[in-house]
Amino acid sequence: MVNSIQGAYGFQLSASNTPLQPCELPVLHPGPDELVVQVAGCGVCHTDVGFAFDGVPTRHPLPLVLGHEISGRVVAAGEKASDWLGRSVIVPAVIPCGSCPACRVGRATICRQQFMPGNDGHGGFASHVLIPARGLCAVPEPLPSGLTLEMLSVIADAVSTPYEAIRRSGLRQEDVAVIIGVGGVGGFGVQIAAALGAAVVAIDVDRERLDLASRHGAGLVLDASSTDLKSLKVAVRTFSKESARKGIGLKIFEMSGTPAGQTTAFGLLDHGAYLAVVGFTPRPVELRLSNLMAFDATARGNWGCPPDQYPAALKLVLEGKVALAPFIEFHALEEAPAILDAVARHALRHRVVLKPDHSKENH
Ligand SMILES: [Zn+2]
Ligand SMILES: [Zn+2]
Repeated sequence: MVNSIQGAYGFQLSASNTPLQPCELPVLHPGPDELVVQVAGCGVCHTDVGFAFDGVPTRHPLPLVLGHEISGRVVAAGEKASDWLGRSVIVPAVIPCGSCPACRVGRATICRQQFMPGNDGHGGFASHVLIPARGLCAVPEPLPSGLTLEMLSVIADAVSTPYEAIRRSGLRQEDVAVIIGVGGVGGFGVQIAAALGAAVVAIDVDRERLDLASRHGAGLVLDASSTDLKSLKVAVRTFSKESARKGIGLKIFEMSGTPAGQTTAFGLLDHGAYLAVVGFTPRPVELRLSNLMAFDATARGNWGCPPDQYPAALKLVLEGKVALAPFIEFHALEEAPAILDAVARHALRHRVVLKPDHSKENH
């Protein structure tokens, strides 16, 4: 039985607004309820950008290895977690404690004792990560052709977070879903909404993203860079009529994480609408909140996705209802500093997955 890992390395943030630095990790020795995952892939999220460049504080003090979108293989495990040894897993971005009052009433994502890799401890921009052995999502093997374990890393956040937002909205076949921002998260949001049978509108400012969305579930794509809010509203209303859905109120999902996207999302509210805030920006927007009252509308956010929903999100991927390959690009872990910079500049169209090279390791 393997109970510690030596020679692990990663890329850490030492101070806000400085590049990530390579670092060696101390010997990873899991406690009884912990395990070590050899990272297959780790997605890069705008939350990482927030930590690195926007002054959003990590809960664990710096220096800290970032990265919370992890898939990999369990290579060391404490005595109570030994069943996981050798298994392929997706590590939830938010690992709740499972026993506090929030967890007990089904609000696991706001558990105050939660562990988020790359926020509460070293994360997945690394060869290995030490995590609690709770809430892991087992990956069945062999995988269907076209899927790899490193691709599945994006389920840990970019797929599961929109999945949870859509699940909470109660989206059904009778509904029209409007996804704003169809990049690294929204591209999956479009597919999940379409998989549930809804008619889907995709709104973005990038033509290539819109083209991709139209090939993967969107019935209508709208370019917000050349269409004002009034015209967007007319187009969405026309599409709703033509698609003959009986659901009351639009289900609007803000996935761009930009002030412009948030403003558009709020501006599209109609009677009985539901607005989900999925994207993150630290910048404020000015809204007339009374529109919620006037439209009898609902607005809601979600901090990730509870682990018990991961298997359902994974199933959509395994069944081919949510395609990953067209929406992600791989880079070597060593490129982490430059990649984080590029993600911050919105210079990459796809969700980036960092891949460590394990070929030179001997365990
Ligand atoms: Zn994230
Ligand atoms: Zn808890």
